[in-house]
Amino acid sequence: MMAQYLDIKAAHADALLFYRMGDFYEMFFDDAVAAAEALDIALTKRGKHEDRDIPMCGVPVHAAEGYLLTLIRKGFRVAVCEQMESPAEAKKRGYKSVVKRDVVRLVTPGTLTEESLLEARRHNFLAAYAVVRDAAALAWADISTGAFHVMPLAPVRLGPELARLAPAEMVVADGSEGEFAEIVSDMGVPLTPLGRASFDSTAAEKRLCALFNVGALDAFGSFTRAEVSAMGGLIDYLEITQKGKLPLLQPPVKEAEDRVVQIDAATRRNLELTRALSGGRAGSLLAVLDRTVTPGGARLLEQRLSSPSRDLDVISNRLDAVSFATEDRLTATDLREALRKTPDLDRALSRLALERGGPRDLAAIRNGLTQAEAISQIAEAQELPHLLVQSASTLSGFDNLLSLLEAALVAEPPLLARDGGFIAESYDSELDEARTLRDEGRSVIAGFQKKYAEHTGIASLKIKHNNVLGYFIETTATHADKMLGAPFSETYIHRQTTANQVRFTTVELSEIETRILNAGNLALEIEKRLYQRLSVAIMDEAAEINQAARGLAEIDLTTALADLAVAENWCRPSVDTSRAFEITGGRHPVVEQALRQQGGESFVANDCDLSAKNGAAIWLLTGPNMAGKSTFLRQNALIALLAQMGSYVPADSAHIGLVSQLFSRVGASDDLARGRSTFMVEMVETAAILNQADDRALVILDEIGRGTATYDGLSIAWATLEHLHAANKSRALFATHYHELTALAGKLTGVENATVSVKEWEGEVIFLHEVRKGAADRSYGVQVAQLAGLPASVVERARTVLEQLEKTEREGGKQQTLIDDLPLFSAAPPPVPKPAPSPALDLLDNVLPDELSPREALELIYKLKEAA
Ligand code: ADP
Repeated sequence: MMAQYLDIKAAHADALLFYRMGDFYEMFFDDAVAAAEALDIALTKRGKHEDRDIPMCGVPVHAAEGYLLTLIRKGFRVAVCEQMESPAEAKKRGYKSVVKRDVVRLVTPGTLTEESLLEARRHNFLAAYAVVRDAAALAWADISTGAFHVMPLAPVRLGPELARLAPAEMVVADGSEGEFAEIVSDMGVPLTPLGRASFDSTAAEKRLCALFNVGALDAFGSFTRAEVSAMGGLIDYLEITQKGKLPLLQPPVKEAEDRVVQIDAATRRNLELTRALSGGRAGSLLAVLDRTVTPGGARLLEQRLSSPSRDLDVISNRLDAVSFATEDRLTATDLREALRKTPDLDRALSRLALERGGPRDLAAIRNGLTQAEAISQIAEAQELPHLLVQSASTLSGFDNLLSLLEAALVAEPPLLARDGGFIAESYDSELDEARTLRDEGRSVIAGFQKKYAEHTGIASLKIKHNNVLGYFIETTATHADKMLGAPFSETYIHRQTTANQVRFTTVELSEIETRILNAGNLALEIEKRLYQRLSVAIMDEAAEINQAARGLAEIDLTTALADLAVAENWCRPSVDTSRAFEITGGRHPVVEQALRQQGGESFVANDCDLSAKNGAAIWLLTGPNMAGKSTFLRQNALIALLAQMGSYVPADSAHIGLVSQLFSRVGASDDLARGRSTFMVEMVETAAILNQADDRALVILDEIGRGTATYDGLSIAWATLEHLHAANKSRALFATHYHELTALAGKLTGVENATVSVKEWEGEVIFLHEVRKGAADRSYGVQVAQLAGLPASVVERARTVLEQLEKTEREGGKQQTLIDDLPLFSAAPPPVPKPAPSPALDLLDNVLPDELSPREALELIYKLKEAA
């Protein structure tokens, strides 16, 4: 057995081997050590190999899915090795034969299909990236739903696309992992190398044609070599992991990069579109938006939010549909009620295709199609906008399949086909008979007893059962003679005579007996056969069912967005090809909801106007910390995204000229893992924006230059603003704490000052959260610090220093005089003892560390050394 194990393991060196032994999957050697730790299960040993103990651990087969999930989450791949015959069959081949085993499947993060291993409301994409000479392409598929896409993609754009799609795994050609390692690990996507031959474009084309059963790929559009190669690699990987069983993929859809708004990874993260900065879904825009009632609708929502459109027709079609649902609330409510009862058609279908399904998947298809039919009838009664007409048209035409499934299946079938009991009564007469025999064997026999008693005229005749004879007819010796004679001896065959009884059987009885014994097995066999037949009937209409699933998702998303719009009082944005950006009464949906949940103050709506004719349109936003600058910046970016994904927006009105790229540089987070300081991260992101943004971009910049010394920071912010204005010509919101910049508004056309207003009352600031034209008068930093609970002595001292600083600046004085004039710091008792005079300390007295550049700091240390 160990020899067999080692053989199989050698062929799957990069995966943990789940080696089936009876009711357990066992792991040995290093696999056992790794798995025991990852799963927190006992590590034992079994036998010896080359004189050393063999470490072993195992998990019960019935609980294997849970363990698989943990292993996949922890970054393992698992090869599932099953017994391909029973021990009895193995014995037949010879006394010492080992049961035949083989790997039936490789479980990897990108190739999951089990309900328990997948998040219902998220896609699970497997991606493949191929470079062919100077072209490259990305293909991705969700084998749990059948979606399959491809697009040309230069390596520099790989990061942003991975951020958009968030695949669970990506395959690349062997040897090229290094090139992509950094991008991919940034996105947290596991990378899997695959033999270069898998990406060969000629072989790939053949593989694809065979899969989709077409003569040439042109049937689906024209693809570049790189695209074919990426798709081929992906399919080959599926063949390898699924051991030849291919999932049901839809024909590849070619995507163009310019079809969707370009959003880089940092911007996605910063705007917390689908995940909050804390990592979870809670607190993200997606969480606030999601009112979908089906998993398919939820997946579509995430996809839309990740890829807002740049196509006016697409956007206005979607908006028309949402408008309809906001107006006709009755119909919308009916549709949602029906949708609520709709199971996940996509995933049931894909499990059936991979032969990993069960009776519940058959029932899911039945229930889903029944609901689809009901929804199409609700829709039929209405004048619908184009998108909904299109979606509703996919939902009918399943009459034959539906009546088949309805007749064949019980209402609530069990999970596993092998348990039987899922085929309805009176669907198949052979099955009914088998079940009758199985369930009512005794009463059938009882019927025979009555019949034989009448036939022989022996009222005391009985049918009994024992393990030796099985069923037999028993009569007393007195009556036996009658049965042993003609004409009864022809029917009743003598089996046994005991002291007082004589036992008989009949051909009919022994036939029935065998049939009763076999009836249970037979019933199971028939059910399995019918299961296959129903699966095939479903697969025959797989493409149409897939379409219907998409139609249902679209209707779900549309009505969910309408629900949200009505409940939250959102408005329909007007989107066109102008360069307008005019929002009145805009709100930040996530902050608004959070404030409401806290039950305190309500959100203050704000206008924004970045409409640009020629050149740039930039608002320079000043105001104290905590006033609401970041919130304002983000809310406007989110409104643009929502509008272009085809949703209503949190505002009183919104007029948006198509945005092609969205950039944001907000907040600051150290990226210590990659050895980058806050400042470096900030500069890298700013560089990306200045190098890429065009006059259709919307740019959000928050506190550029904060991470360095004042003058450095101010200069960088200044130059950045000028570049955005002159070179990028984008629409932009630029928040800054450098009041000096406000002077630029007068000089650069299209640049305007705006500020978030605050009120000062008895020395404290009150945040009004109102954005208005003009510049902030002061920054109120000291007051905010006070609010934050800095000790009173420190706040007082800061006020004094600030007054002096401002005075010195007004009078054009030097810092030295400032220090000399400044009264001493007096923390509430005890007073700080005056340090012993020392030239080094004197030197330090003059230093404002915040103002030091690294170079100045170094020079200072040399000076200090000298003075000490
Ligand atoms: P800044 O960027 O100016 O430091 P933020 O945008 O982070 O300020 O806002 C600080 C806090 O103020 C937010 O967490 C939110 O609770 C509140 N806030 C911001 N904008 C508004 C608004 N328009 N209405 C009500 N509260 C707001």
